[in-house]
Amino acid sequence: VALCEPEEAPPARSRPRVLEPRFNWTLFWQFLRPHLLVLGAAVVLALGAALVNVQIPLLLGQLVEIVAKYTRDHVGSFLKESRSLSTHLLLLYGLQGLLTFGYLVLLSRIGERMAVDLRRALFCNLLRQDIEFFDAKKTGQLVSRLTTDVQEFKSSFKLVISQGLRSCTQVAGCLVSLSMLSTRLTLLLMVATPALMGVGTLMGSALRKLSRQCQEQVARATGVADEALGNVRTVRAFAMEQREEERYGAELEGSRCKAEELGRGIALFQGLSNIAFNCMVLGTLFVGGSLVAGQQLTGGDLMSFLVASQTVQRSMANLSILFGQVVRGLSAGARVFEYMTLSPGIPLSGGCSLPRERLRGSIAFHNVSFSYPCRPGFPVLRDFSLTLPPGKIVALVGQSGGGKTTVASLLERFYDPTAGMVTLDGQDLRTLDPSWLRGQVIGFISQEPVLFGTTIMENIRFGKVDASDEEVYAAAREANAHEFIISFPEGYNTIVGERGATLSGGQKQRLAIARALIKQPAVLILDEATSALDSESERVVQEALDRASTGRTVLVIAHRLSTVRAAHQIVVMAHGRVCEMGTHEELLKKGGLYSELIRRQALDTPPSEAPQ
Ligand code: ADP
Ligand code: MG
Repeated sequence: VALCEPEEAPPARSRPRVLEPRFNWTLFWQFLRPHLLVLGAAVVLALGAALVNVQIPLLLGQLVEIVAKYTRDHVGSFLKESRSLSTHLLLLYGLQGLLTFGYLVLLSRIGERMAVDLRRALFCNLLRQDIEFFDAKKTGQLVSRLTTDVQEFKSSFKLVISQGLRSCTQVAGCLVSLSMLSTRLTLLLMVATPALMGVGTLMGSALRKLSRQCQEQVARATGVADEALGNVRTVRAFAMEQREEERYGAELEGSRCKAEELGRGIALFQGLSNIAFNCMVLGTLFVGGSLVAGQQLTGGDLMSFLVASQTVQRSMANLSILFGQVVRGLSAGARVFEYMTLSPGIPLSGGCSLPRERLRGSIAFHNVSFSYPCRPGFPVLRDFSLTLPPGKIVALVGQSGGGKTTVASLLERFYDPTAGMVTLDGQDLRTLDPSWLRGQVIGFISQEPVLFGTTIMENIRFGKVDASDEEVYAAAREANAHEFIISFPEGYNTIVGERGATLSGGQKQRLAIARALIKQPAVLILDEATSALDSESERVVQEALDRASTGRTVLVIAHRLSTVRAAHQIVVMAHGRVCEMGTHEELLKKGGLYSELIRRQALDTPPSEAPQ
């Protein structure tokens, strides 16, 4: 799995904003369609609540009218006269609350279900992408699409339906009742409000920009913390705690400055808008009062007008906030949808497979040329040909960076060759089912085995999901792992820690071998499988590998030449080509690159381990 892990990614920097993907409406519609019925119900309830809200100011005005009457002349019973109006109002309040409850419940139901669907679909499609996709992307960014972006999209969606619908209806409804109450006052309002809204929107967009910068700065700080905590062993080993603290502190300081600036901006905005709203109330009262004085308007109508115009203003303020949310939601949604439609060049499954009894496990590279997709101008393999005869051990040696791991990647079909082809039993790998190839034919053991943070049992079973406990034990025995596993108090149920952090290198490697052997692979690739181990664990692991190698087609990649002497054939690679081939003795006699490598290693190795 860890074959092609990219080099240490730098901490998450801000995303390049130039390449913002476009929002995919068709795909969004597909996710929305299953919820249309519920959405319809939510819309109806939200509209209902908004219409009730439009009614309320009118009734309040009538109530004020009654109150005013009783302040003038105290005849009759106020309670009796206002009772029906008050009950009506109470009923409307109740209805409004109920409708609000209803549409919020429905919306949260839609939002959460859609978020689950989105996450599942995105995760599923991300896992299907080519290895070259992961070479070019940072894991942190992919994870944030699954978490933050889906979250943001969901809350924008909910807000747009609830607030947006409600605010629009309220604006429209209240404007109608306003103009019925007093055309003059309404016209005045229609001039003042948009002017104020314009100023507000300008300030709002400046604040939004500031808020985005603030978020980016927070993300940078998080990136620093994430990297330091995730690589705590390296930080400790280099005694870099102080420097990491300073780095994190500097980023935090930056985000504090931005956040305070944002806070001041918001405070200014709030203060100014309070003044504006209050002035509007005063202005309405003043102009309306003079109309009342001139008998052109009743006091009750003025009250209704005040309440309704407040509703309009609040709704319009909401709408302008909402606009920013829509922009953010759309770009989050676009990021979520972007990788959902991306289809990989190498599918996970599909193609033919050979029945197990007919599978011989003979591999051949025919004039393969290859350069990594993310580095197209840099050929790693050139006209490379190699045959792995069934049941035989072939060793591949050569300088570091010479392309040995790349050969293994092509065999696993992590990439397709740029030219030439790789065959299994004479069949081009591209015609074979990749899942079958990786899951049942090829066992791969790399230098840095990656385990999952679960039990030993589950880690071994990762090689074959439906393996019985007996099969797991057998594979562990074959990999020399059974003894150390049962020596743990929890045995096979021991949790190995994140990435197997609680095990030694040799133990991890033996679990990785058990995991590869449990699928009974016909072909085994050992990519520097023992080179990270000390000589004692190397001996135990090598013993397991020797046992596992019998009867299989094996490709041993090694730079420590002492481990490849027993191979049936040794292939020496240089400059992306095969430059020598033969047994240990033949190659020594030839006196070429191999004997040169042997001579050089013999100089570094203590005499007892020297290969000659
Ligand atoms: P070896 O296993 O022999 O040490 P590799 O096959 O790992 O060599 O690498 C061969 C060359 O390909 C190196 O120059 C390396 O930098 C490059 N390379 C390896 N992996 C990738 C990758 N995922 N993307 C781009 N270049 C890569
Ligand atoms: Mg390598």
